[in-house]
Amino acid sequence: MADTRGIPMPHVVVIGAGAAGLKATHDLLAKGYQVTLIEARHRFGGRAWTDESMGLPVDLGCQWLHDSPANPWFTEAKRLKVKIYKQIKSDFYLDPADLSLDRSKKLKEHVETMESALENSVKSGDRNSAASEGAKAAKVDRKDPWYPVAVARLAALEESAELEEFSTVDLDAKADDEDEDEVDDDVVDEDDQGANEDDHAAEDGDEGEAAETSYNCLARGGFGKLISAYGDALVEEYTDELTVHFTTVAELIRWQDDTLTVVTSSVIAGPVLKFTPDAVVVAVPTSIIASKEIEFLPPLDLATQKAFADLPLGAYMKVALKFSSDIFDPDSYEGQISAKELKQLRKTLPGIEAYDEVWPKPASSGHVWKFVCKLHDQNVVVGFVGGKLARKMEAEKDAAVVEHALTKLTAMLGPVLGPHVRKLYQNKYLISRWSQDPWAQGAYSYTKPGGQGARKHLYDQPLSNRRIFFAGEALWRAAYGTAHGAYKTGAKAAKCIIDELG
Ligand SMILES: Cc1cc2nc3c(=O)[nH]c(=O)nc-3n(C[C@H](O)[C@H](O)[C@H](O)COP(=O)(O)OP(=O)(O)OC[C@H]3O[C@@H](n4cnc5c(N)ncnc54)[C@H](O)[C@@H]3O)c2cc1C
Repeated sequence: MADTRGIPMPHVVVIGAGAAGLKATHDLLAKGYQVTLIEARHRFGGRAWTDESMGLPVDLGCQWLHDSPANPWFTEAKRLKVKIYKQIKSDFYLDPADLSLDRSKKLKEHVETMESALENSVKSGDRNSAASEGAKAAKVDRKDPWYPVAVARLAALEESAELEEFSTVDLDAKADDEDEDEVDDDVVDEDDQGANEDDHAAEDGDEGEAAETSYNCLARGGFGKLISAYGDALVEEYTDELTVHFTTVAELIRWQDDTLTVVTSSVIAGPVLKFTPDAVVVAVPTSIIASKEIEFLPPLDLATQKAFADLPLGAYMKVALKFSSDIFDPDSYEGQISAKELKQLRKTLPGIEAYDEVWPKPASSGHVWKFVCKLHDQNVVVGFVGGKLARKMEAEKDAAVVEHALTKLTAMLGPVLGPHVRKLYQNKYLISRWSQDPWAQGAYSYTKPGGQGARKHLYDQPLSNRRIFFAGEALWRAAYGTAHGAYKTGAKAAKCIIDELG
């Protein structure tokens, strides 16, 4: 391809076809560039992956379009005619000794009080040291049985790491994403808007949600499906300008003198490929660079190597379980529990709706699970664990992981319902294991203690030859660990290249 003067358009190699790499690819193609996209997996999306083998879309990676409608994936969904809808959820805290809505509300208040004391204390500590240091000053009862939940809400289930593992240096930036895109409110599926909005949400003190300017959305067919549809659309539109190599691993980037060479290997015994592009976008997880899966010759400077090492990926695991009926509805247990128990539970048990989040009382081990209920309004419950527990669980066999989740649900539902929950389980499950995945090596990035400035260093595109550009969720300080953060870094990398090469 050449421009109108017959000068060939620049050729860019993009490594990694996740949210970041795909957006960079899009913007370079839109400018008329030639792009070679190299992806180790056999598919688009990276940590965005929708599994449909259970008969409904289950996102094993990213699921929520946070900060909608400013989220750029919200706008892409409209362009691609992918249906999305607003998620309205409530949180329930369940104590097996008293499953009532009243008790759940009190526990919610209790956990939130502990959580905010902990958060304030963590944030007023030294930002560059471990969050656990700051947490020491919090006036909370560490022996409280719900204390581990307050901790997990801040750490394992938010940062994908333990309080001792991450620093809070980037937390405020995350809450303040300034580079918001145009608000595009008509994308939400009219029919679905507020589909989950009913009396129980209001009862739980969520009355303000209808007026929210920023909220979570879900893609009807899955977030992973949306991102791979974005990749498919590029292939369809740019038949001449885009070449995609799946199951192809970038192994070496040589950037000596003025020459830039990318050498690949194949996952399935295909040929070794060698490219000499004008520029390269490296849009792989930070863990891949830190573990030197891609060799740079000469090596990256020490500050850049340190920045990658300071942004490791934590662990965050999902277990989706399919049931024959709603495990939170006492009527599902009719015939198995007494008529008196049924009548009583019908009166007191919280009505749990699609996507509500349920927090069981932690076991004495302190292990914390969260369950997202009724995925797509079906009888699928998704268990979430993060940090150390997720790493441990991901190393276990499927049967053991499912057993942990069922045991947790059994205990959570108390002595009356708990013993019957396994009878409703349909022996269908899905488990995500991102820490074991060679092309991710974790779920999403956190900042290690001492890692102040790492995200900014990488975001500022530090390499002196102006031919290698990095992208990926870890680089977007205002929304790291998200698919829209990744998207924005892809746009940034493409813009830098276009500014450089014209
Ligand atoms: C369980 C889980 C839940 C999440 N939930 C949400 C959520 O609800 N909302 C949200 O916004 N975000 C969520 N996230 C985060 C979100 O998925 C990621 O931030 C985002 O998808 C990262 O995109 P990326 O392009 O930076 O990286 P990736 O998606 O990891 O893409 C990088 C690509 O590089 C490829 N690659 C790696 N090494 C090589 C190599 N040597 N050669 C060639 N290719 C290579 C990989 O295969 C991959 O396809 C979640 C993540 C996880 C794991």
